[in-house]
Amino acid sequence: MRTFEKNNSVRTHFNKTKIVATVGPASSSRDILRQLVLAGVDVFRLNFSHGSYDEHQKVINHIRDINEELQINTAMLVDLQGPKLRIGVIKGGEIFLEDGKELTITTTPCEGTIDQVYITYPEFPKDVKAGEPVLIDDGKIKLEVISTNREDKVLTRVIHGGPLTSKKGVNLPHTNVSLPCLTEKDLLDLDFALLNEVDWIGLSFVRSVTDIVELKDKIKLKKKQPKVIAKIEKPEAMDEIDNIIDMADGIMVARGDLGVEMPLEQVTLTQKLLVKKCLAASKPIIIATQMMESMINNFSPTRAEVSDVTNSVLDGADALMLSGETSVGKFPVQVISQMTKIIATVEATSYQYDRDSIPPSNPELKFIYNSIFYNACKMSAQANAKGIITMTHSGYSAFRIASQRPKASIFVFTDNKNLLNAMSLVWGVRTFYYDKYESTDQSIADTIELLKEQGFLMKDEVVINIASVPIYSRGKANMIKLGIV
Ligand code: PEP
Repeated sequence: MRTFEKNNSVRTHFNKTKIVATVGPASSSRDILRQLVLAGVDVFRLNFSHGSYDEHQKVINHIRDINEELQINTAMLVDLQGPKLRIGVIKGGEIFLEDGKELTITTTPCEGTIDQVYITYPEFPKDVKAGEPVLIDDGKIKLEVISTNREDKVLTRVIHGGPLTSKKGVNLPHTNVSLPCLTEKDLLDLDFALLNEVDWIGLSFVRSVTDIVELKDKIKLKKKQPKVIAKIEKPEAMDEIDNIIDMADGIMVARGDLGVEMPLEQVTLTQKLLVKKCLAASKPIIIATQMMESMINNFSPTRAEVSDVTNSVLDGADALMLSGETSVGKFPVQVISQMTKIIATVEATSYQYDRDSIPPSNPELKFIYNSIFYNACKMSAQANAKGIITMTHSGYSAFRIASQRPKASIFVFTDNKNLLNAMSLVWGVRTFYYDKYESTDQSIADTIELLKEQGFLMKDEVVINIASVPIYSRGKANMIKLGIV
């Protein structure tokens, strides 16, 4: 449980690795959302694969209300479904597919039987080729394509059968899926999310950097500023991963679909590679799916799950995400408390701090401020500083400082209200509103005083201020001050 002081208004202890919790029937009431925040949630994910606008609106209103009440900055991430493929409704609710039998997949809507099922993908017969696998229900059922009439029917053979129920997801790891990344439903959902000024938009099944560009263009057209997370769950994305990381504001390792789309044994290695790349690029990264899966039904996690959470923190993730555990699970609050405890235990050691990053070199474009952020972190380690205080309008300095994983707390002051909640996703960062531009001396004194008042800094602690001199050059950090509170 987090500790609060004064009128329950200020949190004085928080983990550096953030927690993203998916909201669903098990957690959508104001009371549970509030309990989740107190237990350690930093970001709520609204999964637009499920739920009505009415339901999402209620949750958004509750989260804003809780932020106001507790004077905190819980962020909201709207996750767009993207081109998720599904089978249709199954006659009688369930059928059993037997190994070796033939099954036709049709693009004409029908009730599914053991002979024929519907797929929500009109171009499927044109895109698929003989010999390609069709995976259903997270790969529990595997079919192989025998032939296609290239119009409306694909004949398959059941390789691994089993029970099949309505609307299960379909993955086509070897097929070039021609669907656009943003579906008609996504565009409506995006409008809803933008209208509600959420902080982050997650884009599912990203295959190319152009998917991110397209989404960002749409956001820009509406003159809104949410940041964009590219969900990595298709192997194709890995072919362009450096460009995707560069264009997106953050990355999610969506291990659920990724583990169906690529050999399972490659998922952990892909997670580690992506974390490394994101740290180098100063972009936040979320590790998602099945972190505490058994707690959907059980009161405590398995040893393997605790190990997965521990290792993800040690890898250097910015945030860990829960899905079914908090959306439909029996113990949503307990899951967050357990995860908070595991993260705190890892963070009490020194394993993941002070990353060896490459010093910025002249004539790099942003050499001056990158050098300031780099050396402020080095100095904070050397001086055992309690905090690094920075001011930002774009969030750039927060991303840069956080990516070096300093042990000192990262206190970010901004006049940009859009950043206040959004930065809650970023490792170690706490944000505060500040819009005075009188003088550098004044800002340094103000920010330290505010942190002291709120219990984040104490007398005699070492603190580092990053600022710009003269102050009106806003955003161009060029000064480090080492001081004592
Ligand atoms: C995943 O596949 O891991 C994931 C996070 O995607 P979603 O929950 O949106 O299907």
